[in-house]
Amino acid sequence: MGSASAYSFCVTNCVYLLMSTETLNTTQNYGYQFGFIDEYAKKEIRRSLLKAVAIPGYQVPYASREMPMARGFGTGGLQITLSIVGAGDTLKVIDQGSDESVNAVNIRKFVAQTCPGVNLTKKTVEASIIQTRHRIPEIPLKKGQILVLQVPYPDPLIVVEANEEKRKIMHGEKDYARLWVKLYEDMVKFKEITISHRYPTCVNHYYVIDPSPIPRFDVPKLNNSPVLHLFGAGREKKIYAIPPYTQTTPLTFLDIGFRVEDFIDENGERRACSRCGSIDSYLDELQHKTGEKIYQCSDSDYCNSQLT
Ligand SMILES: [Zn+2]
Repeated sequence: MGSASAYSFCVTNCVYLLMSTETLNTTQNYGYQFGFIDEYAKKEIRRSLLKAVAIPGYQVPYASREMPMARGFGTGGLQITLSIVGAGDTLKVIDQGSDESVNAVNIRKFVAQTCPGVNLTKKTVEASIIQTRHRIPEIPLKKGQILVLQVPYPDPLIVVEANEEKRKIMHGEKDYARLWVKLYEDMVKFKEITISHRYPTCVNHYYVIDPSPIPRFDVPKLNNSPVLHLFGAGREKKIYAIPPYTQTTPLTFLDIGFRVEDFIDENGERRACSRCGSIDSYLDELQHKTGEKIYQCSDSDYCNSQLT
């Protein structure tokens, strides 16, 4: 390292350390600055988010940070949440629709420890930010709310092209021919498109995204939604977004309509939630202690709200 660059390196580090100390001094006893991630990282993530909103569906690369949890457990979503949340916000965290699953409980605890002043809720209607894995809440979201989705695989083209450089060119040229062929092959083999989760969806007539592992049931909720959807893939280091009131269209052929899960039983009737009786919600199949299959709303807050 030359003397000039060594000097610059030292100055940069001193400035950084001074700022870190200053930030730490303003914190309370939990030992971390607000939101755990340092301010530079948050700023970079917010810049990436702005770019993602400006180019709907475009996968913006970012320097995903190490978090005190394993990659694959929602670090991408968590980094977005921690970068946008502020004192006075109300956060809800769900995993597969439930507020009580391990992933959701642990993320909520982590936010409670590192973000003083942020309110936590289990009610969809009260939340200003909802971090989610695998579901979009049943209760229609309203303008002003932000949905942060945890994403394992951000690129829908990965099933047809292994090389990321080539995938980038394909996205840039809006070349989704091979994805269409994959869907067509499904039709030929199985008489229907067999993708149940991560259904490729075109955003604003251009980029095709992987809408994270939400079921097909939730895909139509993305279209012209009043809500800002932010997608974070921590392991893959990508952020993308669907801004409010943006047209999103699942890829389908003109003569074969897009179909969501219908939960029809052997008698041709729509199954109901065994707890609240709802026949409109997305159902989880569970096994009763008697061995019999039962169905329950995957969205715990919706199920509770139907009972009150
Ligand atoms: Zn229910």
